[in-house]
Order: sequence, then C-alpha cells, then structure tokens
Amino acid sequence: MITTLESYVRGSWLAPADKGTVLRDAATGEPIARISARPLDYGPVVDHARQVGGPALRALTFQRRASMLKALGKHLSARIPDFTELSLATGATRRDAVVDIDGGINALFVYGGKGAKQLPDSNVLPDGDFEPLGKSGAFGVQHVLTPRRGVAVQINAFNFPVWGMLEKLAPALLAGVPSIIKPASQTAYLTEMVFREIVASRLLPEGAVQLVCARPDGLLDELGPQDSLAVTGSRDTAAALRRHDAVIANAVRYTAEADSLNSSVLGPDVSPGDPEFDVFVKMVATEMTQKAGQKCTAIRRVFIPATNMDAMQDALTARLAKVLVGNPGAEDTRMGALASQGQRDDVRRAVDTLAGAAKVVFGDAHGRPGNFSADADFDAGAFMSPVLLRADDPDREELHSVEAFGPVATLMPYDGADRAAELIARGRGSLVASVVTGDTDFAVGLIAAAAPWHGRILVVDRDSAAESTGHGAALAQAVHGGPGRAGGGEELGGLRALPHHLQRSAIQGGPGLLAELTEQ
Ligand code: NAP
Repeated sequence: MITTLESYVRGSWLAPADKGTVLRDAATGEPIARISARPLDYGPVVDHARQVGGPALRALTFQRRASMLKALGKHLSARIPDFTELSLATGATRRDAVVDIDGGINALFVYGGKGAKQLPDSNVLPDGDFEPLGKSGAFGVQHVLTPRRGVAVQINAFNFPVWGMLEKLAPALLAGVPSIIKPASQTAYLTEMVFREIVASRLLPEGAVQLVCARPDGLLDELGPQDSLAVTGSRDTAAALRRHDAVIANAVRYTAEADSLNSSVLGPDVSPGDPEFDVFVKMVATEMTQKAGQKCTAIRRVFIPATNMDAMQDALTARLAKVLVGNPGAEDTRMGALASQGQRDDVRRAVDTLAGAAKVVFGDAHGRPGNFSADADFDAGAFMSPVLLRADDPDREELHSVEAFGPVATLMPYDGADRAAELIARGRGSLVASVVTGDTDFAVGLIAAAAPWHGRILVVDRDSAAESTGHGAALAQAVHGGPGRAGGGEELGGLRALPHHLQRSAIQGGPGLLAELTEQ
C-alpha cells in the first residue's frame, strides 16, 4: 500500500482528505506515493509562521542560528544512505544523489560556518560604517540589516528535491525568517522524507519550517509586505507567479530561478591532443548525463572554433557511446532515468524542434539508448539516450531559445571572441557559462562581454582543471541565478543571500546611540 504524502503545518503532520495523484518510480514505473490534489487552508499556515516561527527564530541570534544550521547538517548527514536509496526512485544514480543530497546538506554547513565566523551575536547586522553627516560628527547615519517579520515561501522544481529545499532554507533560517516549503509534486516524496528528519531532529524552533505537499492554490493570496517568495521552475511558472496580484500589490520580495540555455566555449587556442580539449569533452559529457541532464545549470549550447567542430563531434560521440544508461541503482550505470515519462515527452518534443535547425549526431530521443543495461525496463521507465546535435548555422533562433531539459546539447561553430560573446548572449540571460582555454586575453575579453548576461562564469585551463568544481555545480559560496530568461533572481553567494530576508534601514542619530545599536 502506498501512502499519501503529508504536509507539516502548524506543528503537526496533516494527512490529506483525498487519495491524491499517484507518483511513480522513474525507472520502474511502480507507484511510490500519492500526493494530494487539493489545496490547504493557507491563512492559518502563514499566520503560524509569522506569529510562532518568526518570534522563535528572532529569540535566537545570528550566531545561535548558525550553530543550529551546523547541528542540522550533522543530523541529516547521518541519514544520507536512507535518502540516497529513495532518491533512486527519482531516476537519479547514486552519484547524482550526491549532488542533490550531500550538496544540499553542504549548504547548511556553509551557512552555519559563515554565520559563525562573520555574523554578530545579535539580530542587528551593521551594513558599512557610521558616516557623519555634519561638521562636528555629532549626527550621522549607520545602515543596519534586521530580520523581516514575514514568511519566506519557497517553491521548488522537481529536479533537486533535497538541494532545492536546503539551499533556500539555510539563508532564511540564518537570517531569522520562517519558511514554508512547497516541493514539486513529481519528487516530493524525497523532500518529505528529508523534512521528516528535520522535524525529528527537534533542532529548529516550532514554526520555523512548514512543508506543503498539496496544491498551492491560494497560498500566494496570503502574502503580505514582510513576506518573500522564491520560485525555482520553468520560465512560464516564474513569470506567472511574478504577476500574482498579492505579490504585486504588497511588493512581496520575489526571486526566480528559471530555465536557462547555458553555454560552454572551447577557446581558439585549444587543439585535439591538448589537455584542455580533453577537459572540455569530459565536462560537456558530464553536464549532459549527470542527473540525465535535468540540471538548470547543464550545458545546452556548446561553441567550438569552426576548425575543430569535426574533432569535437568525434570526441564527444565516442565519450557518450560509453555512457551506460539504465537502472539508477546499478553500480555500472552512468545515467539513470528522467524524472517521469511526461518529462521525457517534453524533452523529446524539444529535441524535435531543435532538429529543425540542427542534425542529431549522437543518440535518438525516441528510441532505446544504444548502450542500455540489460536489467532495466525501457518501456516501464523514463529512459532516454544522450542526444548530441550539431548546427553549422548558429544563427537559427530555436538553438538559443528551446530548452530541452534532459541529456541534450547542441554543438555550434564560432569564430573570434566577439562572435562567441554575441552567440552566448542570445540565450537572453543564463545561469552559467564556461570557457575552457589557456589564452588569458581571450578569457578576459569574453568574461567582460558575457558577464552582464550571466550569474556565474567558470574558466578552466589545464592547471585549474583538477580543482575545478565543474560547470554545473551551484555552490553555496558562489552566486546562483541569472538575468533575463534565467529568472532575474539571485540565490546563494555566501552571505550575499541574507539580505533577501533582511530589511536594510538607514538609522540616523548620534554616534553613541548608533554604536550601541550595532554593538549590542
Ligand atoms: P515547473 O513546472 O515550473 O514547477 C516548478 C514549481 O512551481 C513546482 O513546485 C510546481 O508545483 C510549482 N507551481 C507551478 N504552478 C504553480 C502555481 N500556480 N502556484 C504555485 N506553485 C506553482 O518546473 P519543474 O517542471 O518542476 O522544473 C523544471 C524547470 O525548472 C526547467 O525549466 C528548469 O530549467 C527549471 N529549473 C531551474 C532551476 C534554477 O535554479 N534556475 C533549477 C531547477 C529547475 P507542482 O510540481 O506541484 O506543479
């Protein structure tokens, strides 16, 4: 008997009244859980966060909340094996699970560590120094940041059921603001499992976190002027929620991480046989196949100097041919399943559109993968081959606008740094771009031109490759987000994420009072 996921609201687990919709194992098609198809009564849930969770969190200080995050990280770390087992049902391999589960828990440690080292043992965070405004210095201004009195509503995408929750939760908790978490339905069973451990740890004060495994209808209507809304999802969802009446009317703080056609550029100095060439091949293949390409940061557009297009195509196809697709739990599997057959249908449609402007040079989006493990059931699961396309005309619009949210990338030629910068900007704003080159002038020129279009840029050469964290990894220390199509939001970036949850105020007065305020 499969269970229906419960919500955790107002201090207890709430079983839904309906049986809900069945969620299936991505690899076997077996039912895993059900999720309610009805909304909750959200008024009391939001009130509980504001009236119980907020005061309890603010009764602690930045320092104490930092310790709490570290303790929570330790508690969850001990349960990683259990989380990983359930994660297999999402189609992720054990290696993929490290990115989602260990990566999410790491965000708790990073915020705990940074908070402990850099934040005061109070709830008033000085922003800059006292600035005199008169001749004698008897009056001036000190900017401070204080926790907002609202709730942070966090809506997450299906592809990172653990990291998505924890990377948003960590900065909110450190700031002293309660959260309401709404996971994507498709993989909410894993989020629910981790959340049960958060509750069981008893490390967070009552009301600090609530979980919604239900339809979200009506949740945003409850948002007010001290609240924030963070959304990770498709461009359409991000745009719709940005226009929500309550969000607009109450100037709810809004941040979105949406889809993105990230790119990677091979430098003109790199030839087959160079270490950078191999680094590039490995990086593109990894980004295509890790989490079956269902990463918001995965490389979708691959720009190669025109003279090296054939060599790169050959090298990438040879590498992709070695990727064994199949049962996510098997040791030798290199790529598991997509999250659902519905998601795979979306990816197939996107590949069909891209194929109008490019040629498929590896894989078949509709057929059984060429390298498919014997113990996986192709018909029951959401399996798909990696698909590499090649477009010799990079000016076709769909190459820069159609996101195939799966193991899919397109090779395109370019000539010169200006052209590379122009082509990557056609993504109309991306989360990340990467450049593999040993030519510093080329890299610096490209960064200057491309940075305004990106939240993050990774440059790798033969010396930095061994320590590189990789194109797709959204680390708690580095900003994650991007302009335009990528949603226009910004998350993580270490303590840069805190001001989303804090109010900056200019406090004007005498230096004694202002020193007292910030030293308390
Ligand atoms: P999605 O369909 O847009 O859903 C995202 C989240 O929004 C889900 O939790 C969904 O709930 C919820 N939602 C949808 N309509 C809503 C509404 N009217 N009110 C409140 N919540 C609503 O996206 P997805 O399929 O989960 O994720 C895939 C997309 O996310 C891809 O396009 C990918 O590029 C993007 N993504 C971006 C990032 C990033 O950091 N930039 C990260 C991961 C994914 P239900 O699931 O219950 O419908």
